[in-house]
Amino acid sequence: MSFKVGIVGAGWYGCHLASSLATLGFEVTVFDRQERLMQEASGNNQFRLHLGFHYARHHGTRLQSRDGFQRFIERYPTLSREVAQNIYAVPRGASLIDFQTYKLIMAASGIDYIELAEAPDFLQSVEGCLLARERVILLHRARELFQQRLAGCLRLGTEVRTLRNVDGGAELNGERFDYVIDATWGQLRRPPIEVFYEPTLLLYYECTEAVPAITLVDGPLCSIYPTEDPQIYTLSSVPHTPLGRCATAGEAHVKRAEVGRDLVTAKRIAMEDQVSLNVPSFRDRFRFVGIQLAIKTKPVGQYDDRSCYVFQDGRIFGVMSGKIDTIFFATERILSMIEAEHSAAAAPAEAPSALRDSILMRAA
Ligand SMILES: Cc1cc2nc3c(=O)[nH]c(=O)nc-3n(C[C@H](O)[C@H](O)[C@H](O)COP(=O)(O)OP(=O)(O)OC[C@H]3O[C@@H](n4cnc5c(N)ncnc54)[C@H](O)[C@@H]3O)c2cc1C
Repeated sequence: MSFKVGIVGAGWYGCHLASSLATLGFEVTVFDRQERLMQEASGNNQFRLHLGFHYARHHGTRLQSRDGFQRFIERYPTLSREVAQNIYAVPRGASLIDFQTYKLIMAASGIDYIELAEAPDFLQSVEGCLLARERVILLHRARELFQQRLAGCLRLGTEVRTLRNVDGGAELNGERFDYVIDATWGQLRRPPIEVFYEPTLLLYYECTEAVPAITLVDGPLCSIYPTEDPQIYTLSSVPHTPLGRCATAGEAHVKRAEVGRDLVTAKRIAMEDQVSLNVPSFRDRFRFVGIQLAIKTKPVGQYDDRSCYVFQDGRIFGVMSGKIDTIFFATERILSMIEAEHSAAAAPAEAPSALRDSILMRAA
């Protein structure tokens, strides 16, 4: 059965959903208020293809990441690249869990790593280090690929202002679809779980020597991660990257727009001080080149749940995005919900069980 599906949002979730559903024969239209694909969080993040190492405190997120990582490589083999040396380090005294516990959690989740016998020279005050196979996502190639695949079904520069269920379908800006998927990361319709909106600031640095990716875990720590440009890295910090905790997406947009030079300088000092505790040569090796701003929608909670959830309200699906590696989960949930709806409609009405008759017939 083929359906006419409207998708709001041309980030990673909207693009992947549209491409998957179109491949299955659905008639898809993608709407985004931006003029280009992946202009919001999908184009402004740390570009890490996660494997689960970030999420020692959330089992579901680790498993979605571990599986999503493999599927991402299979499905989009040209959209990520290896990171030559990718180190996860547990700093002494500053982590929420000790190194042995961290390793056990990863091993128990089937996440492979190599343990380094000792920390590299440039890292100090760490209890232990693991080498991870996580990769870097190639944003510009992703944009090109989806621009090509979705040619003919993109309506960019189009804000969706109205979305409602109508009899047997959903109406978006007055246009009727069989189903609509809200892939705006909770910006169009608020997810039916407790969330907040977090404007974020990452810093870009240039480094001309090849340095490893370094992620300090677990808790209010920081990381240096390469981008698709071999000399450009992002610096992210759990306490300093967030610019606030907003009740609505609108408030988060205002806060993001207000970021000025003084705030950037203050954040820069704080983040560089923080990373220098474990990478003392940071300021000598890395040169600040710019900032990156985005908005995250986060579930309320202490466990760092970054898994993906899908909600259904009549003919409207809402996607609460996890990370980029969890896009597959969204597609599967939506297809399964559509299938359930249509197979339920075709199922015969409840009748008395025929089991007793079969048993008696055999006994006779
Ligand atoms: C600082 C930061 C670092 C991160 N690091 C990583 C990382 O390293 N690895 C990883 O996997 N994930 C990371 N993430 C998470 C990742 O960015 C998200 O999982 C992913 O981008 C979500 O994609 P999305 O398509 O749901 O949302 P988005 O990319 O935000 O797309 C939503 C789209 O909806 C559009 N839209 C919104 N409202 C409307 C409307 N009313 N009408 C029309 N269009 C609308 C927006 O313009 C936008 O293009 C990070 C996020 C942030 C903020």
